[in-house]
Amino acid sequence: MKFLIFAEDSKNAGGIASKLRDSGDVHAIIMKDQVEASSSYGIKKIYGLTGKPFADNVAESITKLNPSSFDLLVISSTTLGREVAGIISAKQNLLCATEVFDFTLQNGKIVTKRFFYGGKTIMEEESEAKIITVTPGSFDPQNGEKTSEFEDIQLPQSKVNLIETKPKEKSSTNIEGANIIVSVGRGIGKKESIDKIMPLVEATHGELAGSRPVCLDYKWLSEERQVGLSGKKVKPKVYIALGISGQIQHIAGMRGSKIVVAVNKDKDAPIFQESDYGIVGDIFMVVPKLVEALKK
Ligand code: FAD
Repeated sequence: MKFLIFAEDSKNAGGIASKLRDSGDVHAIIMKDQVEASSSYGIKKIYGLTGKPFADNVAESITKLNPSSFDLLVISSTTLGREVAGIISAKQNLLCATEVFDFTLQNGKIVTKRFFYGGKTIMEEESEAKIITVTPGSFDPQNGEKTSEFEDIQLPQSKVNLIETKPKEKSSTNIEGANIIVSVGRGIGKKESIDKIMPLVEATHGELAGSRPVCLDYKWLSEERQVGLSGKKVKPKVYIALGISGQIQHIAGMRGSKIVVAVNKDKDAPIFQESDYGIVGDIFMVVPKLVEALKK
């Protein structure tokens, strides 16, 4: 079998390649500055895109490689990736399955898994999809043979006229790669209370994260720290949930955690059903005790 990947960064290209490479030859189109970092994932041929990427010129470049000659086109589901998938699907008349987090190939068909009803259920579908968009972070990149061939592709002129770009405020967080995450929910009450959680973040050498209300609605933390269905998918060794109720949309982002510790004053909070260790209590009483214990 023969597969084509489009991902903007090497980590997601590597994750998808690691999933596919035992089933056939993997080709990948990625941004030129990510080519070197992608060369250790057993990808047969890597095309490096140069120029400013827009959905139309990326779709045009992929189309020139004749996507229907591949058994499957796998696109990392970023804002750009989703648009590219839509354009190619419509223009080439190829069936597309979106927001897939896992899939298997069986006798020329594909079985895809994706969340449904806001993450409450998983929908498993068999189809003849030739394009799938995969949620970033779904597969771990694992090193393979370093025998890739390389070719550069100059992106054609886009029909989009870029008027202005404004850099997003950057925070130095990488919760997706963190081993320990201390995650706060609406239960912390106000932004200033995060200072009371920081000693635990420091004592565990962890990363600070939060639920959607904390990151998106109240902006007590930056959006890059949001865990969940519409936030980041994390897989730490330890996930400490403080004042998080454990709604399914939050669980969807942290269910890959190895050990979950939850602190909540409500003994019936659903987070306890997802936890290995549960403490029923007020976070502002429990956190200092945890810090004290860790320091010992
Ligand atoms: P709450 O549900 O309000 O829970 C607060 C908890 O804190 C309660 O259990 C309470 O008992 C406890 N508490 C209060 N005070 C204390 C205290 N002093 N000590 C101990 N415990 C205390 N949510 C996400 O998190 N991530 C997502 O990506 C996400 N995506 C979504 C996508 C869609 C399409 C939709 C519809 C929703 C999404 N949500 C997401 C929202 C989700 O449904 C919940 O509303 C949200 O996760 C609740 O956040 P929370 O647990 O912080 O707040």
